[in-house]
Amino acid sequence: MAVNPFEMAKKQIEIVAEEMNLNPNIRQFLKRIERSLIVSIPIMMDDGTVKIFEGYRVHHSTIRGPGKGGLRYSLGVNLDEVKALATWMTWKTSLLNLPLGGAKGGICVDPFKLSKKELEKLTRRFTAEIINIIGPDIDIPAPDINTNAQIMAWIMDTYSMQKGRSIPGVVTGKPIEIGGSVGRETATGMGLYFVLQALIDKLSLDLKSLKIVVQGFGNVGGTIADLLYKQGCKVIAVSDISTGIYYEDGLDIKKLIEWAKQGNLLKDYKNNKYKFIGNDDLLKSKCDVLIPAAIENQITEKNAEKIDCKIVLEGANGPTTPEADTILFKKGIHVVPDILANSGGVCVSYFEYLQDIHSYFWKLERINEELKGIIIEAFEETYKISKERKISLRTAAYIIAVSRISKAIELRGIFP
Ligand code: GLU
Repeated sequence: MAVNPFEMAKKQIEIVAEEMNLNPNIRQFLKRIERSLIVSIPIMMDDGTVKIFEGYRVHHSTIRGPGKGGLRYSLGVNLDEVKALATWMTWKTSLLNLPLGGAKGGICVDPFKLSKKELEKLTRRFTAEIINIIGPDIDIPAPDINTNAQIMAWIMDTYSMQKGRSIPGVVTGKPIEIGGSVGRETATGMGLYFVLQALIDKLSLDLKSLKIVVQGFGNVGGTIADLLYKQGCKVIAVSDISTGIYYEDGLDIKKLIEWAKQGNLLKDYKNNKYKFIGNDDLLKSKCDVLIPAAIENQITEKNAEKIDCKIVLEGANGPTTPEADTILFKKGIHVVPDILANSGGVCVSYFEYLQDIHSYFWKLERINEELKGIIIEAFEETYKISKERKISLRTAAYIIAVSRISKAIELRGIFP
């Protein structure tokens, strides 16, 4: 049976709570969701029929600042998935010590089945339905699976129209022309790259000699595959929703990215040397770095024993279950947890939010330099704790994140 992601998120809290010997009141508080809004979104489709979609926006915690987190359009979206993703955002912003909380949203829809007009209507009506619980000092959505800068622009416009003035800070990941930030689109991939570089230094490995496998070829998977390919690494397998492809001597990532950017699927890519492989075989391929950059619940107790790499770098949120974590830890595989590895996206979202507030925009060099500074500091702290306490990088990262939240809860107290 598929793992319920929110149950998994709560289990992760229990693991770290035990390690930290956390007081039961705080434990309860950490597992609590501040608010969940479920909305019904009616859309007049192009053919004149009405279709109803269900949407969600969840705030896990705003204790350290406004809620922050992406918006996902996918048939896999449900309340428990969004709750888990919101919870993971709280740890992510806390680990980076950003003055933000954790939130997430989504609509249960296959966006590829909608016309552009229908997609716009869906986005605008959804924004109108959640308007009271978003805003620059309440909760700031951003892109996630199957959402992009155009969708953020529609949200920003709908929100601004309702408020009677332009409010770019209501979302991040916007087009640059209307208050977006340079470097936001590639930020998650850049963050993955900085963290990987730092870890391989610790392990005395050589970047260029690494063999890489990437699950997912969207914004995150595509960017990190491209960055590593440009550094001379062999990316031996990648996958999208249609298939995985494998080539021992290294795939031509440049060509594959061009192919994907034109809206094509990997299953239609022609190269006689490349072999098509399924998802499970892709994950079990022998490599140095496995980068799950698709969806949650991919490395489980069923396949963890067969994972054959030195490093798992979590581009996706929640790709590894707690049971699989234990197995990978015993095997000596370094798992760089999602809340650290993929935190580059939310970090540059924070920069975008700051730039919008100040109406002053930074250059790409500054974005990447500040991103590197913040993410490497979080990595060093996490690595140090994991070594000192002989625990996984995930538990170490959670200790840092949870400590900050716990302290904030203690200081603020419980109202009334
Ligand atoms: N969706 C991204 C994440 O899961 C980015 C969130 C954001 O920028 O707020 O981290």
